[in-house]
Amino acid sequence: MTFRAKHLLGIEHLGPDEIDTILNLADDYVALNRSKNKRSDVLAGLTQINMFFENSTRTQASFELAGKRLGADVMNMAMQASSIKKGETLIDTALTLNAMHPDLLVVRHPHSGAVELLASKVNCAVLNAGDGRHEHPTQALLDALTIRRKKGRLHRLSIAICGDIAHSRVARSNLILLGKMENRVRLVGPPTLMPSEVSELGVEVYDDMREGLKDVDVVMMLRLQKERMDGGFIPSEREYYHRYGLDAEKLSHAKPDAIVMHPGPMNRGVEIDGTIADDINRSVIQEQVEMGVAVRMAAMDLLVRNMRASRASVEV
Ligand code: ASP
Repeated sequence: MTFRAKHLLGIEHLGPDEIDTILNLADDYVALNRSKNKRSDVLAGLTQINMFFENSTRTQASFELAGKRLGADVMNMAMQASSIKKGETLIDTALTLNAMHPDLLVVRHPHSGAVELLASKVNCAVLNAGDGRHEHPTQALLDALTIRRKKGRLHRLSIAICGDIAHSRVARSNLILLGKMENRVRLVGPPTLMPSEVSELGVEVYDDMREGLKDVDVVMMLRLQKERMDGGFIPSEREYYHRYGLDAEKLSHAKPDAIVMHPGPMNRGVEIDGTIADDINRSVIQEQVEMGVAVRMAAMDLLVRNMRASRASVEV
């Protein structure tokens, strides 16, 4: 088992061996979560604080459940009502929480880099639950686990990431992870929704969905992130659906056994047709949610093992 990290801030800091370690342990947690008694005590006596400065449904619930299943005391900070509104800086908030001796801090923040900054100020393990357009490491890990279980491997696959790439931390983390595991990644979407540095990413780029989806194993759809857009990136949602929305006809260009993914929340009828999203023969969207809990359990378990090992070496 290899896992060296002290925090989980981004996929960019993980080696392929560490990614494998998380996914292997997550497989065990999938089995635990499907059993009758879902409890383990690996985090018993530890405190996990979830600080979400941006809205979240799935990720926050998933981290909360993951911590509780491992026996931690889990606290959700209501950041909308917190002292941040009264002008307290992120660092002051972090230092205040640090003084309460948490062992794990799970943080989502609208600014890229904010979680890393916070991690440098506290002395517990920090997990990035999404920072601006930068990274969303647990999402990429749960996507990787879903792909590995469905396709039987996580290398030499052809994967299309489609839609609003420019505003998506999910796309960024997935691009890094899938590249590290030696897959062929394509980005598909309108040029206005591609990141400016796209030509430096070393991936194939398509603005035609049918060409982009041709013979791929995995179709990963992204939400149109309207809250991060400050101008007209698309002519209209109707036009966008017509050109880039995943429907049965566009999907027919992928391999016959290609799987369809979406990190949620979904805009049905904008980036994906509702019947495709609900098609249990193609869509693995519900599996992604299930894998999310297991991956977060594995990540927290491994960070705590490292934390205990470093505390023990200090005490010696
Ligand atoms: N839930 C994912 C995120 O937080 C994807 C999305 O919001 O579209 O980045």
